[in-house]
Amino acid sequence: MAKIHNLGFPRIGAKRELKHLLESFWTGEINETRFIEQSNALWLNNLQQQAVLDYVPVGDFSFYDHVLDTSFLFGNLPQRIKDHGVSELDKYFLFARGKAGQDLCCENAAGEMTKWFDTNYHYIVPELDKNTAFSLHPERLLQRIKIARSQGYEVKPVLVGPLTYLYLSRSTDNTPVLDKLPDLLTQYSLLLTNLAAAGIEWVQLDEPVLATNISSEWSMAFRYAYQRLSDTPVKILLANYFGKLNENLSLVAELPVDGIHVDGIKGETEAQYLADHIQAPQVLSVGVINGRNIWKQDLRKVLKQLQPLQEKLENRLWLAPTCSLLHVPVDVTSEDRLPAGLNNKLSFAVQKINELEILRDGLNRGEAAVAEALAESDEIAGLAGTALAQNPLLDNDNPQLKRRLPFEKRYAAQQASLKLPLLPTTTIGSFPQTQDIRQVRAQYRRGDLSEGQYKAFIEAQIRLCIEQQVDLGLDVLVHGEAERNDMVEYFGEHLDGIAVSRFGWVQSYGSRCVKPPIIHADITRPGPMTVEWIAYAQSLTEKPVKGMLTGPVTIINWSFVRDDIPRADVAYQLAEGLKDEITALEKAGIKIVQVDEAALREGLPLREEEKGAYLQWAVNAFKLATSSVKGDTQIHTHMCYSEFSDIIDAIANMDADVVTIETARSHLTLLDAFKSTAYPNAIGPGVYDIHSPACPAKETISNLIETLLDILPVEKLWINPDCGLKTRQWSEVLPALSNMVSATALLRQKLTQTA
Ligand code: GLN
Ligand code: ZN
Repeated sequence: MAKIHNLGFPRIGAKRELKHLLESFWTGEINETRFIEQSNALWLNNLQQQAVLDYVPVGDFSFYDHVLDTSFLFGNLPQRIKDHGVSELDKYFLFARGKAGQDLCCENAAGEMTKWFDTNYHYIVPELDKNTAFSLHPERLLQRIKIARSQGYEVKPVLVGPLTYLYLSRSTDNTPVLDKLPDLLTQYSLLLTNLAAAGIEWVQLDEPVLATNISSEWSMAFRYAYQRLSDTPVKILLANYFGKLNENLSLVAELPVDGIHVDGIKGETEAQYLADHIQAPQVLSVGVINGRNIWKQDLRKVLKQLQPLQEKLENRLWLAPTCSLLHVPVDVTSEDRLPAGLNNKLSFAVQKINELEILRDGLNRGEAAVAEALAESDEIAGLAGTALAQNPLLDNDNPQLKRRLPFEKRYAAQQASLKLPLLPTTTIGSFPQTQDIRQVRAQYRRGDLSEGQYKAFIEAQIRLCIEQQVDLGLDVLVHGEAERNDMVEYFGEHLDGIAVSRFGWVQSYGSRCVKPPIIHADITRPGPMTVEWIAYAQSLTEKPVKGMLTGPVTIINWSFVRDDIPRADVAYQLAEGLKDEITALEKAGIKIVQVDEAALREGLPLREEEKGAYLQWAVNAFKLATSSVKGDTQIHTHMCYSEFSDIIDAIANMDADVVTIETARSHLTLLDAFKSTAYPNAIGPGVYDIHSPACPAKETISNLIETLLDILPVEKLWINPDCGLKTRQWSEVLPALSNMVSATALLRQKLTQTA
């Protein structure tokens, strides 16, 4: 008899209850007792939604982040957090967020936050050094287990595995992280023993690092670790997800664990291989429901795939989502705004649990027992698109992917026609999104404001924003993005083939959620999306105003994407739409267009062997969108990261005239990349960190510009902050930009003196 289980449920709640609880707790509106009480109620509700499972996960629910929970579980807190003499929960949130309102450095610093594999979920990076000593603090976990068991659930704790934990940790003193493995394993063993004593049979250890290329040192560490854990009195389910095992497959097949979970969608053949190679009583858990996307599965097809496995494994076959459902929204039934017929095709977490139930019953009791559900699935499963016979993005020689003039020629023409000084100053696009702006957008959305009223309001915001920039003395201006709730959602709302849900929230980090648009059909551009606002902004000033678009790759990486045609084909459709928008902007007299590719890098596949194919369509989609412009139209792009030495060639290949990047926190890394590869085009390395509330001093900025000038040619250097300003206050933005402009003026003066 096949069993069903889950790797994790969205913790945020269908209506973002956890977000609201967290925010009320942080502002002091509710106290700790109430916060714990109410979040427990939310957690119990999550369990209830999974009641049909043979094993429900515990350990997946977290107040903020499950990697941070693991650090607390094993007593791995940096000294600055340990020394913080307050409650456990205060320490927890201090590590997560730093101390608000304080200088965010030193003892008040939060842990570094970074992306969880190739998802848009961020975890708090564990810190290690030679003195790190682990200790076990399982109280909260044990308490949850006790509660869940007392309510009749069969519980399977889910923990980050020891190797993945160390792999994601940062050594603050260059101690190799693997040096810490023996000590850490001692605590894991102790924990597993505790769990057995609490009545637990199975424990899931997540090791998604197995979906990446690991060195032989790490494979050895895997063997050593799981050998040591094999004599603990619980059964271990080793879970890999986010991709195939590839060269790690035989390693995993040999580990002395009681069960293995694999991604049965990307790794269908690996599941078959393991079914042949594992030894009874070992269990195989196959991830057959996509935990990274929101389409209903073709259940009849999945059953066919599973039947041979079932014959081989019988009750040793488990079914699950491919990964934790953390990455999908909670429940589609409350969606009331999606295009007709779309709801039916979608499966959020609650629906995915139901799909698992149908599969289990279909396997265990025969298809006849679930005939009705299967008939329904036949009717609505998936989308049915036709892939392009030949995708123009896959042909690097396609002339549509090439600017008319080489960079040196067109850049000189642009700078002349734009009449820009040396070291032109600009910003990344957004200006503060005030309470007012958000309120008016919401009113308009609800229908409480007429189109005319709304337009007048946004125009007033744009005017204000332009006036401020003129006063500051910036050279290239922006309209400020007051009309945009989110840089991807805005285009999702304006392009056909993309739907925006009402409650499709997914946790991005802590209390922050995003609502990825849903790309469900062919994408077309019904009309201009941004021209009205940009042209209005340009009409107010002689200085150039940048058109502001979100790039095709970023739209894809921050959306749920149809999976019936290749992503490269979706990218092509988006690129065509954006190309038309750029043409329309040019016609309206706009001379500079910025196409943001904030998320280009995070879509990079986890495995080396897959990176080339991704970068080809990703870079070419950007080029298709931007290459047909006139020679003296200047194309900018912006990217939100600084570590890109590994993809610097791809970025150069995008051939944007100017790239602005987030570097203020790590100039050295950036400069290394630029020293070793002469980046051919112009670049604006952010000269201050917009994420910090601290105002950058004029001297700090001018020193930084001088350092930059040692490495980059002066005529190719732009001066700008390192990201959009929408999360800041005007009172922070004005002095910071003013210092940036005067630091630049100082440098220009020095340059003319020495010339
Ligand atoms: N143009 C966008 C802004 O300024 C870019 C945001 C981003 O890089 N994430 O907000
Ligand atoms: Zn950015």
